[in-house]
Amino acid sequence: MAATASERKLLIGGEWVETGSWVDVRSPYSGDLIGRVAKAGAAEARRAIDAAEAAMQEPLPAHKRAEILVRVAGYLGRRHEEVAQTICAEAGKPLKAARVEASRAMSTFTMAAVEARKLTGETVPMDASQAGVGKLAFTLRQPIGIVGAISPFNFPLNLVAHKLAPALAAGCAVVLKPASQTPFSALLLAELEAEAGLPPGWLNVLVGPASEIGDVLVEDERVRAITFTGSGGVGWKLAERAPRKRVKLELGNATPVIVEADADLEDAATRLAANAFSFAGQSCISIQRIYVQRGVYDELLSRFLPKVEALVVGDPADEATDVGPLIDADARDRVLAWVEEARAGGAEILSGGDLDGELLRPTVIAKAGPELKVSCEEIFGPVCTVTAYDTIDEAIELANGTRFGLQAGIFTRSIKTALAAAQQLEFGGVTVNEAPTFRADQMPYGGVKDSGNTREGPAYAVREFTEDRLVVVELS
Ligand code: NAP
Repeated sequence: MAATASERKLLIGGEWVETGSWVDVRSPYSGDLIGRVAKAGAAEARRAIDAAEAAMQEPLPAHKRAEILVRVAGYLGRRHEEVAQTICAEAGKPLKAARVEASRAMSTFTMAAVEARKLTGETVPMDASQAGVGKLAFTLRQPIGIVGAISPFNFPLNLVAHKLAPALAAGCAVVLKPASQTPFSALLLAELEAEAGLPPGWLNVLVGPASEIGDVLVEDERVRAITFTGSGGVGWKLAERAPRKRVKLELGNATPVIVEADADLEDAATRLAANAFSFAGQSCISIQRIYVQRGVYDELLSRFLPKVEALVVGDPADEATDVGPLIDADARDRVLAWVEEARAGGAEILSGGDLDGELLRPTVIAKAGPELKVSCEEIFGPVCTVTAYDTIDEAIELANGTRFGLQAGIFTRSIKTALAAAQQLEFGGVTVNEAPTFRADQMPYGGVKDSGNTREGPAYAVREFTEDRLVVVELS
């Protein structure tokens, strides 16, 4: 039996486990205690790996894995509102965005189930060389082994889904460490997986000191792959420390978007306002840097700024709220300090830049030099810059001018400009006439440069959790 909603235990080998100490979880909006979770340490991490190892001794056939994944999608649908309320409470994500996340997780599981059923290798054309004549060869897709999954606070359900569902589709058992600030969505998902028939040990969930649990995942050789979504500082260090594992990283961005003079400016302004500030900018592909062709700069701003000012800032549990709190007061103070640095550095605050009660108002900054943090680091808050440019080459150079490369966007009516930009923008994904914040869960999603080294989306992630095994048959 699972523990109550506000007091949860760890899941290890199918048992809900207490440890005698707890991690408190607070509402990012009110600061109130919303629950606590049993705290895991290195000993629990080792037990979880033992349990995963034992589970993998009895492989689950693909049709069973697919059936379980489909059932989880169904349960997420049935408990959709409860799931959305959980995300809203622990992450402070506005309810309407939390509902979207809950629906997206259903789609992630549904698509992973499809992948479970079509894990095929390929035949090798052996007579293509003299050495292979008289032989038949093919590859099998084998599960890589135990997967360690580490997830961030900002999509506490769907980014967990993007790790669990493809790993299970591939036939791998998982040891999951969700963000300490948002463990309840992951634990709810674990409960649904157990209800859906996932046998003990296939999914183990640990909440506790990140470095202690992370160290065990890095050091234990039975963990063959680590899938990490979070900040670059943590992610690249994990990859360095585990050179013999597959360490797959989904990291940050300072998302740019280019608005050409021939764009539909009203449409662009609407999408920019919606996607620079949703979940208070705490998405890795939240729009941060807007580059506008000089001839339409004033017009774009005259359409964009009223839409920004119309966004409703407030309690995430309120149906009308567009922009809620940052994850904690430290995050808010850091973002405010970056805005102040920009102001002191000669930038002009066109909107926001201050607090509405305890919440940061959506902030638009002009004339921000490229050396300012708001221009070159990931702000991860409800803040964007707007900058005029003269030529498309200049815009592309500005967009490419950070160490990040996750997604970028361009608004233009010219197919030629759009396709040229798609080739020149050094990012994992480029959107045309859509905000670069757009993501559908089947897309190959991931970054280049400091933004990561992999692609998620079940069809792509499942590859990371399998290895090709070659079988050669002598026919003579
Ligand atoms: P974070 O501080 O790096 O935390 C991410 C996860 O790593 C958490 O579970 C955290 O645990 C854990 N962690 C921290 N230190 C660790 C260590 N030494 N060893 C092992 N695990 C460790 O990131 P965040 O603040 O939660 O998330 C924001 C970042 O994620 C942003 O940079 C954002 O762009 C990025 N992100 C990227 C994507 C993508 O798909 N590319 C999607 C979403 C977010 P604790 O919570 O216990 O500290």
